[in-house]
Amino acid sequence: MQGPLGGGTGPGLSPVDRRTLLICIFILAIVWGQMNFTGDQVLRILAKDEKQLTLLRDLEGLKPQKVDFWRGPARPSLPVDMRVPFSELKDVKDYLKSHGLRYSVMIKDIQVLLDEERDAMAKSRRLERSSSSFSYSSYHTLDEIYNWMDNFVAEHSNLVSKIHIGNSFENRSILVLKFSTGGSNRQAVWIDTGIHSREWITHATGIWISNKIASSYAKDHLLKKILNAMDIFIDIITNPDGFAFTHSMNRLWRKNKSSQPGISCIGVDLNRNWRTGFGGNGSNKNPCSETYRGPAPESEPEVAAIVEFITNHGNFKALISIHSYSQMVMYPYGHSLEPVPNYYELFNLAKDAVKALNKVHGIQYTFGSISTTLYAASGITVDWAYDTGIKYAFSFELRDTGQYGFLLPASQIVPTAEETWMAIRTIMKHTMNHPY
Ligand SMILES: [Zn+2]
Repeated sequence: MQGPLGGGTGPGLSPVDRRTLLICIFILAIVWGQMNFTGDQVLRILAKDEKQLTLLRDLEGLKPQKVDFWRGPARPSLPVDMRVPFSELKDVKDYLKSHGLRYSVMIKDIQVLLDEERDAMAKSRRLERSSSSFSYSSYHTLDEIYNWMDNFVAEHSNLVSKIHIGNSFENRSILVLKFSTGGSNRQAVWIDTGIHSREWITHATGIWISNKIASSYAKDHLLKKILNAMDIFIDIITNPDGFAFTHSMNRLWRKNKSSQPGISCIGVDLNRNWRTGFGGNGSNKNPCSETYRGPAPESEPEVAAIVEFITNHGNFKALISIHSYSQMVMYPYGHSLEPVPNYYELFNLAKDAVKALNKVHGIQYTFGSISTTLYAASGITVDWAYDTGIKYAFSFELRDTGQYGFLLPASQIVPTAEETWMAIRTIMKHTMNHPY
């Protein structure tokens, strides 16, 4: 269809130049085995009103699988960030201009950041090999993280064990670290990171926090008290197939990798696949959408494994599900504007958590319920957790606010993890002091 978005060519390039460039990119992609994002940009749009937000939402339909919302159209006060492939830039910018939508370029060339990230990983890997150590300030592949887990559990066997809770669609193990000082079926805290695979800062934070718990347990009086009352479970690679794919092929992959017969698009948004509010606002029934909810609640093995584990355990009192980016601490509901029964308690606890976080490096977070702070989102982890009886259910959006988005430099891993840990510690303390 030739609509207002049809038929543009790349900015400043003749069709021949453009074809040459695309062929080069294609060849490079084959050589590297990874998708190349040369010239792709992230645009930030500030919509003035609901009408402009609708114009942005329409873009997903006008350019199916072309524009990729990093921060989707939510409310006029929140910026919209979207990745636009080089080949679509002129069309999309023309569309924005023609509708009076003001935009700025947040990331000028995504591939530049990806190259920097890959170089940093290679450098760190060489150092790790030569010193036989693990760097907590670097990003790692799935195999590297699973290797680290084995060494970590062996090193701290008095406190940490590894539990296999199920397998992913592509049959990878889903592994959870359990921190426990004993007892049987104690009250427990659940933390998951990486349910959206491109949010690499979350896995790195999960790893750092695991190490923090093991290494500071003996010295940290509060943590000792917490671990004498409760067990902590951390699911670091909640979406292993998606995560493996972000390393092998497409760094910006969000969903899992499940497929259905007769449907060409791959993947379900694992944070839309939970039973509570399944199929409601802020989830999509189109399998090609980035927020595709899947064919049925808990249809995805990665979600079903957690549901089964938490339900069978039966004594989880807090759940923290970690995402990026936007710098927010939020609580249920996402699928409804209705305040939850302990709304004020969650509001105050989120406030305290954000305050503790801010003290570490001065980073500002916002907080509130998901539907009023971010946007309506249905079939999400924390809504399910809340409705299953876990009344301290929180969703975090880590750094940053869009300068790097999902491509947060590794130099920010440790500071991000340090501040996140203080927020989590605050929630765990409150949970311990308010048994139910
Ligand atoms: Zn996410």
